[in-house]
Amino acid sequence: MTIAPTTLDLIGNTPLVRLHGPSEAAGCDIYGKCEYANPGASVKDRAALYIVRDAEERGTLQPGGTIVEGTAGNTGIGLALVANAKGYKTIIVMPETQSKEKMDTLRALGAELVLVPAAPYANPGHFVHTSRRLAEETTGAVWAQQFDNIANRRAHIEGTAEEIWAQMDGRIDGFTCAAGTGGTIAGVGMGLKARDPKATIALTDPHGAALFNYYANGELKAEGSSVAEGIGQGRITGNLEDAPIDTQFRISDEVGLYWVQRLLKEEGLCLGLSSGINVAGAVELGRTLGPGSRVVTILCDTGFRYLSTLYNPEWLRAKGLPVFPWLAG
Ligand code: PMP
Repeated sequence: MTIAPTTLDLIGNTPLVRLHGPSEAAGCDIYGKCEYANPGASVKDRAALYIVRDAEERGTLQPGGTIVEGTAGNTGIGLALVANAKGYKTIIVMPETQSKEKMDTLRALGAELVLVPAAPYANPGHFVHTSRRLAEETTGAVWAQQFDNIANRRAHIEGTAEEIWAQMDGRIDGFTCAAGTGGTIAGVGMGLKARDPKATIALTDPHGAALFNYYANGELKAEGSSVAEGIGQGRITGNLEDAPIDTQFRISDEVGLYWVQRLLKEEGLCLGLSSGINVAGAVELGRTLGPGSRVVTILCDTGFRYLSTLYNPEWLRAKGLPVFPWLAG
């Protein structure tokens, strides 16, 4: 495609890149799917487009209507740009702990931004419940419901997985990524398993999430914490139901940041922390699968979204995290 007919046609069909440092560390081939190359600079543009099209097809979203969603930010950015391209309004509810860049981007896109204090899922003030209430109270509004709406994972079954399969020439031994809604891991996992049941699908979980224990021993139990935005799930969402997870890894923020730094300095890739955690998981999976194996992971979003946090020495020091040597001053 040389000329895309609309902006929405620019969502998906992202490049795949060989990651040299991680490949060397794992002793096999590690590839990153460049989801930061979507128009909204994250993997969530895909889910946003599928969710909006699904609501249109069901007739729940009418011309001039409003899309309401609770999000760590990236889904909101995806929804806002899809809504702008299609003439809808957006109301985005976000925990106030997320990066300032995401908030500024949402305001710039014209979304109505509602910030709420970070709260456990059981608390009625949690961003997901707040967004559901706002959708109910707003005339002509639909609730995108990315966590349980399986239009989300369909974007990855039909899009991301098929693209990876074609880009890898049908030769892939393993895939891994972390879960926020779980749409990516479940959708890519299902799509790749349909192509090759022998491909190993691994969940890479941050600390503070409950899925590592769930897939290891059936217990939804969280331990520790993470500053990574957009990942770390405490329940089996609708998108995670029946996800074909073969194995699981747990990765610390320190190890994720180590890869964020190396990919920036050695390969010129500026990424967010969930990408670093994914790459660390891919190295673990590559070591497990052995020499000659071919492993794919997701480079979820751009690091430009975290200049005030991950790339800010003061913020890193305040969190007790290692400062990038060339930023240490
Ligand atoms: N990384 C980032 C930065 C994200 O915003 C998200 C989405 N919440 C994810 C990873 C995880 O994607 P998914 O919701 O498909 O599990």
